[in-house]
Amino acid sequence: MTASFLPFTAGALGLLLLFLASGGPPAVAAVVSNRFFQFFSWAELLASGAAKRLGLDNTPTEAAKVNLAALVNNVLDPLRAMLGRPIRVTSGFRSPAVNEAIHGSSTSQHMQGEAADIMADGLDATLLLTAIVRSGLPFDQAIGYDPERGGHVHVSFTTHRANRREVLWAPASGGYRPWAVA
Ligand SMILES: [Zn+2]
Repeated sequence: MTASFLPFTAGALGLLLLFLASGGPPAVAAVVSNRFFQFFSWAELLASGAAKRLGLDNTPTEAAKVNLAALVNNVLDPLRAMLGRPIRVTSGFRSPAVNEAIHGSSTSQHMQGEAADIMADGLDATLLLTAIVRSGLPFDQAIGYDPERGGHVHVSFTTHRANRREVLWAPASGGYRPWAVA
């Protein structure tokens, strides 16, 4: 073997290791995605109080897991690194049964593993939403919720079409309205 083969060999080995670690072929997506998270765990992405309370199955499909990984790789991990403070996932993946039980939107991106509701230590929803918008990260939708509606930020990411970077506010009075960083 000559030295010129070495980079190829190392790359092939890396792909093989990725294949073995992920338990299947690497996801082919519009963005580079892996299942190695810097700051988040699968447990917190899949935890559901409602599922536990009501005895509902909240097992993600393989496609939802690929989407969750893309959400973490492209938005949650980089955002956490930028903020330099813990981010809590209050709701990540929701199976259709769980989503129905909590009266989630019938088109909720939580069911595809494309969305998470998050809160950051020391930041209210307004500040966290501002940070997400200013981060320049490629989110699909970011929605800040009034404290009366949870005080969290819903953030989503998709690999199936262009991410919209749509920013909304969910006021106490209900509904959603466009929101611009002051
Ligand atoms: Zn949400």
